[in-house]
Amino acid sequence: MVECPHLLLENLSTGYAEPRGRRTVSSELNLGIASGEVVMLMGPNGSGKSTLMHTIAGLLPPLSGQVKILGRSLARLGRRDVARALSLVLTERVDGGNMTVWDVAALGRYPYTNFFGKLQREDEKMVAEAVEQCHLKGMEQRLITELSDGERQRVMVARALAQDTPLILLDEPTAHLDLPSRLDLVLMLRRLAHELGKSMLISTHELDLALSWGDRLWLMDREGKVVSDIPEALVLGGHVGRVFGNQELSYDVKRGEFLVQREDLRPICLVAEGMPSEDHRVYWTMHALSRLGYKRSEDTETGLKLVVTPTDWQIKDGEEVRSYGSLTDLVSALS
Ligand code: ADP
Ligand code: MG
Repeated sequence: MVECPHLLLENLSTGYAEPRGRRTVSSELNLGIASGEVVMLMGPNGSGKSTLMHTIAGLLPPLSGQVKILGRSLARLGRRDVARALSLVLTERVDGGNMTVWDVAALGRYPYTNFFGKLQREDEKMVAEAVEQCHLKGMEQRLITELSDGERQRVMVARALAQDTPLILLDEPTAHLDLPSRLDLVLMLRRLAHELGKSMLISTHELDLALSWGDRLWLMDREGKVVSDIPEALVLGGHVGRVFGNQELSYDVKRGEFLVQREDLRPICLVAEGMPSEDHRVYWTMHALSRLGYKRSEDTETGLKLVVTPTDWQIKDGEEVRSYGSLTDLVSALS
C-alpha cells in the first residue's frame, strides 16, 4: 500500500481576491509532505511564504486548486475537523495576559473539548505529554509573559502538539530567537517529527537553518514559484543562487555562502608554508583579505605575495620581506 502523504497541494494557487481583481501570489503548486518529514519553506521576504501557510491552514481560501490532508480535501472539512488535522504556530509574539504555560498548551485541546471547554482526564494527559516533549516540565505555572522568547516559542509548539494533529505548520518560528535558541527549536522540531511521525512545514528566510536541517526544502522565488528537493540538490542545481542572488550578490556553491561581486578586487597570491593541511589560518586570512578588497590569485608574478607560516604572515615584495606576528597586525598594515 502506498502511504497517503500527510499534506498534498494539488494545482494550488494562492493569493488575494481584492476588489480591483485577483492578486495571485503563487500559482499551480503541486507539492507534498510525507509522514515524519520536516520541510523548510524558504524564500525572500514577500515571496509568499505566509500566504501559502495561511492557505494551507484554511485561513485564506485558495484562488484555485486544493489542499488535501490525509487524502481529504480541506475545503470539505468543518472547522473542528480542520483543527484536528493541522495546527499553526505563528511568529507574532503572543499577548499572553496572565496565562500560564499550562493554560496556553491546554488551548491545543479546544477542538476536542465540549461546549464549556472543560478538559477531561485524557486531555490533561495529552497536555502534560506535550509540555514534557517541549522540555517545559516544571514550568507549567510560569506566566507566558515572563518567559524568554525561546521558551515562549516552545510553549507555542507544546500547544500545537497538544492539538494532536498529523501536520504542524510554523511560520518563521525562529524569527525573534538568538542563534542557540534557533538551533534548539529546530532540533526539537526535527526530533518531534521523526519520533512522533508528524509532518512539519517550517518557513524561514534563514538559509543556513534551512540548508542544514530541512529533510526537504521548498524554495520559493520572488514570483512565488516553488522548487522542492533535498537542500544540497537545490544548491548544486543553482536554485539557491538564482533565488537569493542579484547583481551584487552571488552564491558561492563551493563555500556555501554569498559573496559580494566586485569589479575592483586586487589580486593576492596566498601561499601556505609548513602548515598542517587542516590549518584554519589560511581560510580566515583570506576571509579578512576579501573584506579589504583582495581576491586570491594563482599568479606569483604580479600583485602581492603573502606567505602564511605556522608563526607569522610574510608579505613579499621583490626582495623585501615584511613579517607580521598576528593576523590583526597584517590587516592593519594592509588597510
Ligand atoms: P512572505 O511571508 O514570504 O514574506 P507574504 O506571503 O507575507 O510573503 O506576502 C506575499 C505577497 O502577498 C506580498 O507581495 C504581500 O504584499 C502580499 N500580501 C500579503 N498579505 C496580503 C493581504 N492581506 N492582502 C493583499 N496582499 C497581501
Ligand atoms: Mg511571512
